[in-house]
Amino acid sequence: MPTTKCPECTEEVYVDAESEQGDKITCDECGAVLVVVGLDPIELDLKEDGDSDDFVDKDNLDDGYDY
Ligand SMILES: [Zn+2]
Repeated sequence: MPTTKCPECTEEVYVDAESEQGDKITCDECGAVLVVVGLDPIELDLKEDGDSDDFVDKDNLDDGYDY
């Protein structure tokens, strides 16, 4: 069974040999949900939850403008 490193905790994660791109895997070590983004070699990426808001650098806007 192929293994790769969990991007979250860097522990080895077993990936099903029949996994396909886009498949989701849960890391046994840290419980992170990982998505298969590459197969040769196997690459995993953290699944982004839509829950967390992206923080926007609003503070950088308008800085120094005084029209
Ligand atoms: Zn992990």
